[in-house]
Amino acid sequence: MSGRLAVVGLGPGDARWLTQEADAALAAADALYGYGPYLDRVPSRPGQVRYPSDNREESARATAALRHASDGAQVAIVSGGDPGVFAMAAAVCAEIEAGPQAWRTLDVVIVPGVTAMLAVAARVGAPLGHDFCALSLSDNLKPWDLIERRLDAAAGAGFVIALYNPMSRARPWQLDAAFDRLRQRLPASTPVMFGRAVGRSNETVVVTTIDRADPATADMATLIIVGSAETRTVARPGRAPLVYTPRAAQGVSA
Ligand code: SAH
Repeated sequence: MSGRLAVVGLGPGDARWLTQEADAALAAADALYGYGPYLDRVPSRPGQVRYPSDNREESARATAALRHASDGAQVAIVSGGDPGVFAMAAAVCAEIEAGPQAWRTLDVVIVPGVTAMLAVAARVGAPLGHDFCALSLSDNLKPWDLIERRLDAAAGAGFVIALYNPMSRARPWQLDAAFDRLRQRLPASTPVMFGRAVGRSNETVVVTTIDRADPATADMATLIIVGSAETRTVARPGRAPLVYTPRAAQGVSA
C-alpha cells in the first residue's frame, strides 16, 4: 500500500470540535506524530503507534513523518486548532520543498480544523464580523520590532486583531508592550476579549477594554481578540455582553 501523510487539525477543545474528516483521518492512521499534549487528546486505537515530540521540534517531526509515510505507512501528524494556522502544515510544506524529490509525489492531505480565534469569537458574539487579521505574538520565529510594526499597521488600518501565542514564561513582557502600543492607536473603550482553554473543561472567557486589559489574564492557552474602533458591546441583563463588529464599516450603508 502506498504511504500517505495527513496533517490533521484537532480543533481547540474536545471532540465536539473535531470534524468528521479529521476523525476519519485519525482512525485510518498506522502512526501518529505530534506534540505530546495534542496526541493525548486523540483516542487510542489498537495497532496505532504514537510518536510524541516536544513543541519546538516541528521540522524534525515533519521530517520523521514524511520518511515514515514514504516507507508506505498511513501517517497522521496532529495540530491543535487548524494545522495551517501557526502550526504543522507549513512545517510539512517546508520540509517537502527542501527534501528529496520523492516527497513531492507523496499523497499529502491537510485536514482543516476549527482555529482558536473562531472558537473564542463564537463565545463572545461576533467580533470578527468585519475585516480582521491574526498575528502570533511569539518572537521565537521573527524579531520583536517586526511584531510592533505589524501591530501598529493592523490597528492603524482598523482591523480587529486576533493574537495567538500571547504569553509564555520565556516571553514575560511582550504582551504588556503590545497592549501599550495598541492603546496609542485605539480608543480606550475598545473591547478586548481573552479566551483561555476554550472548548475544554477549564475554559475561561474575559471581556474587558483596552485601557483595562491586564496581561496577567493571559497564558499560553489564551487567544486574545482586540476589537477595532467599530467593535461594539451590547449589555444584556443577567447574561454576558455580546461583542460584535458590525458588517458594514462606519459611513457605509448596507
Ligand atoms: N493551530 C492552532 C494555533 C497554534 S498556536 C489553532 O489553529 O488554533 C497556539 C496558540 O493558539 C495558543 O498560544 C493560543 O493563543 C491559541 N489556542 C490554541 N488552543 C486554544 C484554546 N482552546 N483556547 C484559546 N486559545 C487557544
